[in-house]
Amino acid sequence: MAIVKPASCGDRSPVPEADPSDQPSRVLKTIFGLSGFRGEQQAIIEHVVAGGDAIVLMPTGGGKSLCYQIPAICRDGVGIVVSPLIALMRNQVDILRQLGVRVATLNSSLTGGERQKAKTALRDGKLDLLYVAPERLMMPDFLEMLDGARIALIAIDEAHCVSQWGHDFRPEYLQIADLAARFPGVPRIALTATADRQTREDIRRRLKLDNARRFLASFDRPNIRYAVMPKTEPRRQLMSFLKTRQGESGIVYCLSRKSVDESAAGLQASGIRALAYHAGLDAGIRSRHQDAFLKEEGLILVATIAFGMGIDKPDVRFVAHLDLPGSLEAYYQETGRAGRDGLPAETLLLYGMQDLVLRRSMIDQSQAPPEIKRIERAKLDALLGVCETSSCRRQALLAHFGEARAEPCGNCDTCLAPVETWDGLIAAQKAMSAARRTGERFGVGHLIDILLGANTDKIRRFRHERLPTFGVGKEFSRQVWGSVFRQLIVQGALSVDHDHFGALKLTPRGEQILRGREGISFRRDHATRTAAATVAKTSERIDLGKNDAQLFAMLKAERAYLAKTQNLPGYVIFHDETLVAIAKARPHSLVELATIPGMGTTKIERYGMNVIDVIAAFEQPDHPDDGMDD
Ligand code: ADP
Ligand code: ZN
Repeated sequence: MAIVKPASCGDRSPVPEADPSDQPSRVLKTIFGLSGFRGEQQAIIEHVVAGGDAIVLMPTGGGKSLCYQIPAICRDGVGIVVSPLIALMRNQVDILRQLGVRVATLNSSLTGGERQKAKTALRDGKLDLLYVAPERLMMPDFLEMLDGARIALIAIDEAHCVSQWGHDFRPEYLQIADLAARFPGVPRIALTATADRQTREDIRRRLKLDNARRFLASFDRPNIRYAVMPKTEPRRQLMSFLKTRQGESGIVYCLSRKSVDESAAGLQASGIRALAYHAGLDAGIRSRHQDAFLKEEGLILVATIAFGMGIDKPDVRFVAHLDLPGSLEAYYQETGRAGRDGLPAETLLLYGMQDLVLRRSMIDQSQAPPEIKRIERAKLDALLGVCETSSCRRQALLAHFGEARAEPCGNCDTCLAPVETWDGLIAAQKAMSAARRTGERFGVGHLIDILLGANTDKIRRFRHERLPTFGVGKEFSRQVWGSVFRQLIVQGALSVDHDHFGALKLTPRGEQILRGREGISFRRDHATRTAAATVAKTSERIDLGKNDAQLFAMLKAERAYLAKTQNLPGYVIFHDETLVAIAKARPHSLVELATIPGMGTTKIERYGMNVIDVIAAFEQPDHPDDGMDD
């Protein structure tokens, strides 16, 4: 269906326009139904509408899509969008069609007929946006199609795919510069949520965007709450985290396929709707599970990191990591999949000694060159630093991305429940003396056995019951000692020697502490504090009174019905945010409805009456037995 472009939009007509600067905001209002731009969106859009090149760095959920969609609608011709994943394209196209935007895709999943239709629309100038998979870019028939078309702009989504530095390198992305060279004068906009310097540099160089203006948004995601806990009993910790989030969509990340399968089965056995997703599953199953996650409400996807890139589901309410993520970048990207709609979302990361040792040994034993290993170790240390911090997590995270934040955030576990620290000198000395007196040849488990005075084969075999350190640590539990050792490693007092089965060795800093020349303090681990206690309850998150909540539920049911009949995810019809606003404002006419965020012209035309009817039904005085008695 064709959209009617707002009168002042676009066409470089000879008639001077009243105020060209208001064009994008009119598109924002009438088509997208949004009342204002976020952050740098307006500056970016105006720059591109005026024909400038741009590199846009914005966190996941920051609102990158509008930055090229609106200029493509405002400028004459079609906007070409290069996008790496078919699922992502499909999602964008569904959303845009619901808004009445004229959009098509070209990728390998299309039938001949669909492709022909897209071609015809392009030739006739009837497209605002065309999403293309990178491998199509330099195909002769595609180029032929473009030659006859008028091009508004070229957008390069997930532009970090051009860089070999990250994990998402796509060689086809290197051809984008050639494409651009064929269409000189067409503005280009490259967008990514990956912010490190090397990647930025690669984007500029490889896409030949030397004159592009760079827009760097804050990477803060204020609606996401961060929480990190020591991993003690992951299954129980997860259950307690999930307890208050029934009926919400979320992702649970695990490191291995096996743990994905086990965790998904465990949740199912507890009556929780969960599906597994990892590269070892049959492609059909994988895509079925992904589809269910996108379309159904309240489903949990348990996944390896194979899942996620290009998943644009806006209403993911939580992301839990049962194992340490690969790096802070990965952690930030994975948690960033929560709360794209701007509503409150929570995260939970469980990390334990085993993870740490495993990850260290993976790095040590890899065949990578020493330089890469050094980077990997530094990345792991940065991640652990955030895990072990006793101050604001968000400050620590943003600092890692080069953003200084003056105040603690008030929306992370350490801000909400300040961490106690304790003077750990004596404990540290006992722990390290156990290591020292056994020749620095043993791992954590055995050293804790010595401290606790345990009677094991290994203790007897090595005659460790004769050591002066034997049994000197009975004041603490095994768990507390685990925490002490973990923090000694993270704080650089002990190092793990993987060539000798994880033996713990004293570092120079450890030496200083052992001799009492330097102090050390530890975070108190709240093993008893449940995960749920550190994160908000559902009712606190979606801020609705009881009455409004009932209407909200009715609106959600209507949305589910509308979505199901069109085989679309619910959020493509309305975001939760829109339904919350409707439930609060209770509009009684289409005019009133138009003031709700997310209600653009096309949405009102299609679904306005459904919404009004739901509200009317809700407000109707409830007389179930009327007329029956007499
Ligand atoms: P990104 O691609 O940066 O991850 P999206 O473009 O998918 O983010 O946008 C994330 C969410 O924010 C979407 O649900 C979108 O509708 C919403 N959004 C974007 N810009 C605005 C705005 N100016 N006002 C309200 N919502 C917005
Ligand atoms: Zn904080």
